[in-house]
Amino acid sequence: MFSQGKNFKSAFEIKQFQEEKLKIQLQYLNSHSPFYKNLFISKGINIEKIQTIEDLVLLPVTDKEDLQNPNNDFLCIPSDDIAEYFTTSGTLGEPVIFPLSENDLQRLAYNEFLSFKRIGAKKGDIALLTVTSDKCFMAGNAYSQGARKAGISIIKTGPGLPEYQWSTILKLRPNILIAVPSFILKLIEFAQKNHIDFKNCSIKKALCVGESLRTKDLNQNALAKSITDQWPIQLFSTYASTEMNTAFTECEFGKGGHLSPELIIVECLDEKNNPVPSGKEGEITITNLGLETTPLLRFKTGDIAKLYTDQCACGEVSLRIGPIIGRNKQMIKYKGTTLYPDAIRQTLQGLSNVDDYYIEVATDDFGMDELSIHLALKSMSIEMEKIIADSFRSHLRIVPKLIFNSKAEIQSVKNNPKSRKPIDFVDNRITI
Ligand SMILES: [Zn+2]
Repeated sequence: MFSQGKNFKSAFEIKQFQEEKLKIQLQYLNSHSPFYKNLFISKGINIEKIQTIEDLVLLPVTDKEDLQNPNNDFLCIPSDDIAEYFTTSGTLGEPVIFPLSENDLQRLAYNEFLSFKRIGAKKGDIALLTVTSDKCFMAGNAYSQGARKAGISIIKTGPGLPEYQWSTILKLRPNILIAVPSFILKLIEFAQKNHIDFKNCSIKKALCVGESLRTKDLNQNALAKSITDQWPIQLFSTYASTEMNTAFTECEFGKGGHLSPELIIVECLDEKNNPVPSGKEGEITITNLGLETTPLLRFKTGDIAKLYTDQCACGEVSLRIGPIIGRNKQMIKYKGTTLYPDAIRQTLQGLSNVDDYYIEVATDDFGMDELSIHLALKSMSIEMEKIIADSFRSHLRIVPKLIFNSKAEIQSVKNNPKSRKPIDFVDNRITI
């Protein structure tokens, strides 16, 4: 196991190790991937010239459009060696299919085995998995296989049904919760309403999926605070995606998701695909290592974040990824300010009277972005509108158009049956 351990590797050792792995991965792509083989030929690329991480800039990037194109062939193994099919969530377009071989399923399990180790989980622990393990969702599968590898007992309750979750917690006494953070809030709400002594229940830590828990400067965001203020459990933020086949999981110090060097190379790039200066935000771009089914080379994830390369308080020097502050395609330019939906979410999560919402961006008559927030409030008053507007002004320096709707109206927009998760960002901009 290269990641973690008592003898932490130096930054130099990690780089050397990854460069050896990269050379193997490039040879593999050149001999097995129709897409990359054609790309290398058409661009006149000699992969032998790629010796270091810095040399990666000599290679073209792969983007989401490449994956959407049905003529492009990323599959590197015979189709009868596919063990399981997964898909992306399809938040930004049609879901993309990601099959995995048996070896890749093992790699996926190993990846979450490392996540469990990182949060201090061990044999004897019991984890409650409240994210789905079916619907072609990779993360649920990864956690259950990873738990098995780490000797952790797993209970797959799946999403929703707070009553069932609580009866299972009280009966089987899991100590780790694997959940979407906003669902933890629902669990708290249900426990409070039904007089469940949740503060003294068996759950001690939560491995959080799908929503960030950190502000830009790595403090707890409003969502994390609203959980821990009511329920003092330890929260661990993660960052992962189907394309990456890899999770970046925080350690107990919560200073960004740690890289597992044997699984993936991470670059942080600007709009021209050059590495951003250290400490600057850019687009997370990944190269899978050791993946054999549909490995990607310099894949631009669309996620904007910052990399941390200083030594973590836990002792590790491998890089860490800060919270995703937005997606490149979701960037909004409004009244001279550039912002991402997540900044709006964070503002709204800090307002206790907001019951539900979605964000809408459209194009106005002048071709500019027009930003509206559709809100359902727990109780409506004239002062509330002012409080919300003031909160936006102080957090983001702008006040979007506020449109008040009933919760049912909001839910009917958010819950698209085609999507695996509720949609809280509706982009109606005209693209030229
Ligand atoms: Zn750490």
